[in-house]
Amino acid sequence: MIHDAYRPWYITKVFWDATPPDLHNLVADPSKGFKHNRGCAVDLTLYDLKTGKPVTMTSLYDEMSERAYANHNGGTDEQKKLRDLLRTSMKEVGFIVYEFEWWHFDYKDWQSYTVQNIRFEDIH
Ligand SMILES: [Zn+2]
Repeated sequence: MIHDAYRPWYITKVFWDATPPDLHNLVADPSKGFKHNRGCAVDLTLYDLKTGKPVTMTSLYDEMSERAYANHNGGTDEQKKLRDLLRTSMKEVGFIVYEFEWWHFDYKDWQSYTVQNIRFEDIH
């Protein structure tokens, strides 16, 4: 289940402008762009085929805590097993684990792609 993937640059700018300066460390800097702007990052989780609902991981999606770390040792054995399954599966297809968020993966060749500002409505 994909939460976030390609994000047009202007959205990054909107988030930056709406965030108080003392909290800018929590959002991506639009002067640099970031991997979601390049279409080279994805935030995702697993879901249960029987229920169609997302599985329970070691933290909530977008949770800002150590429970979100890709190698956090807390949570149940089942939560860690599912998180590790996601991590292993993504690594096998060329994605890099982001140590602070179990749901975020960067594509290995992200440097080869430029920051994009194409609105979703204009993608054909
Ligand atoms: Zn992300």
